[in-house]
Amino acid sequence: MKLVAAPALRYLNGYPADTLAQVQHMLAEGRVGDWLTRRHPQAHGVRTDKVLYDYVQDIKSDYLRSTEPLSKVAFDSKLHVVKNALGTHTTVSRVQGSKLKSKREIRVASLFKDTPEPFLKMIVVHELAHLREREHDKAFYQLCTHMEPAYHQLEFEVRIYLTHLEATGERLWAAAD
Ligand SMILES: [Zn+2]
Repeated sequence: MKLVAAPALRYLNGYPADTLAQVQHMLAEGRVGDWLTRRHPQAHGVRTDKVLYDYVQDIKSDYLRSTEPLSKVAFDSKLHVVKNALGTHTTVSRVQGSKLKSKREIRVASLFKDTPEPFLKMIVVHELAHLREREHDKAFYQLCTHMEPAYHQLEFEVRIYLTHLEATGERLWAAAD
């Protein structure tokens, strides 16, 4: 069987080589979409900034009560460039970091409107953790896993979805509207 050209795995930088080989193989066989939707059949239904605000605020008040109030929470279609949706796995600099610091805003890339709830939870937990920890260091990831014990697995799956999107353009949980 001739495999299609290998898509770049830039969203998966830093993961072990055998994991990358497995993902590459699934991509080449077109099985990633199936794998993801079998794990997560349902979209979450959080589709407005107001509902998103409440969703974020609930998690914040459970775990980060002492941090400053959020002035704004919004889906941001300009963040649809997926590389900005999440920091890269190894680097620490973030465009959103400075905004977050000065304005206490949380912006979630619009592509997360149409994902399973655990994916939204993962990105929200990530952004909330930056209210307290600026760098992607040990303390940061400890805070993430405190808020969501499956954080690392979910971040991995989100990165696989981003890779799938880049390779195929196929949104897996797109709403009908
Ligand atoms: Zn980050």
